[in-house]
Amino acid sequence: MSERTVYADNNATTMVAPEVKDEMMPFFTDLYGNPSSMHIFGGQVKKHLDLAREKVASLINAEPSEIIFTSCGTESDNTAINGILTANPGKKHIITTRVEHPAVKNLCQTHASNGYRVTELSVDKKGQVDLDELRESLDEDTAIVSMMWANNETGVIFPIDEAAQLVKSKGIPFHTDAVQAAGKITIDAKKTPFDLLAISGHKLHAPKGIGVLFVRKGTSISPLIVGGHQESGRRAGTENIPYIAGLGKACEIALQNINNEKVDVGKLRDRLERELLEKAIDASVNGDINNRLPNTTNISFKYIEGESILLLLSAQGIAASSGSACTSGSLEPSHVLRAMGVPFTRVHGSVRFSLSRFNTDEDISIIVDKMLAIEKRLREISPFTDD
Ligand code: PLP
Repeated sequence: MSERTVYADNNATTMVAPEVKDEMMPFFTDLYGNPSSMHIFGGQVKKHLDLAREKVASLINAEPSEIIFTSCGTESDNTAINGILTANPGKKHIITTRVEHPAVKNLCQTHASNGYRVTELSVDKKGQVDLDELRESLDEDTAIVSMMWANNETGVIFPIDEAAQLVKSKGIPFHTDAVQAAGKITIDAKKTPFDLLAISGHKLHAPKGIGVLFVRKGTSISPLIVGGHQESGRRAGTENIPYIAGLGKACEIALQNINNEKVDVGKLRDRLERELLEKAIDASVNGDINNRLPNTTNISFKYIEGESILLLLSAQGIAASSGSACTSGSLEPSHVLRAMGVPFTRVHGSVRFSLSRFNTDEDISIIVDKMLAIEKRLREISPFTDD
């Protein structure tokens, strides 16, 4: 591997920010009390738990009492959906979309095999949902609507404001998987009427193994993990204080920087995309370019294999990700790109670059240079052409 590495896979996971690591350290040494303990060791730590909860709440303009700490985004999604289904056993219809992360998609499919009716809303070729289809799908039996805020593969942002308002106007609970959106774009719980919202720490420069579920005041859910009284009885288990403190710091930084980052990271992404599209032999962007996360671009290089691109990029020290087969341990090409109707020849040659505030202009130059050379090399050995 070359010495200079470039990390452009921030939708998979992010580096823990140095300030976040510093925030966590005292909780591995001096501040080791259990926040539920009545004594001074517990009390000291409880203060930090409360503070972190306030910081996380501020990121999405929620109340601290609406924040539940979990172990990851997947647990938050599962708690949201199962929590509502268990609390409303009479309703047997779930609405979601065809492009959700497996944390929602596979859970809903499990419910489908257990007798639930699951409607997966389609997306158009830009990866956008149709709110009329959502309106027509809602019925008396609908227990929950779960729609991601932003897509992990393409960055496409769904119209969550309108969708939540529509669903709430029928009195149906609305959950959104905001794992990719939180910290990258503004989320306002006072403005958008979602009932439940999932966040994952490791997508916003906090460690892996910490997540958040927002539950709007007045929304009744059954806990997924039952035991002690932690998290107001909504998620049992002693709180992971070091990680919670780290997540609080990560949310504080994300909130302070959200507008600047949108612009700065967006400029890097736009430059990367522009140069690749201009100079590549055959490249096209997947997803709605006017409604996208500022850090993500998903580009298809027609007729060449995404895996081969990734392996060659990786050999040169560049980390990206692919929507084609195998790369994520799955044998299926991206369900997101297929749902968008992207032709197989392009699905197989798709690469996702996802940036963060730790990327630089130099990183972009390196990616463009290496990527163009790899495209040329792979085309020379590709058996496929349009001719
Ligand atoms: N939802 C989305 C949109 C994601 O991108 C991910 C992770 O990639 C998850 C949920 C799962 O989060 P976690 O890895 O914290 O379980």
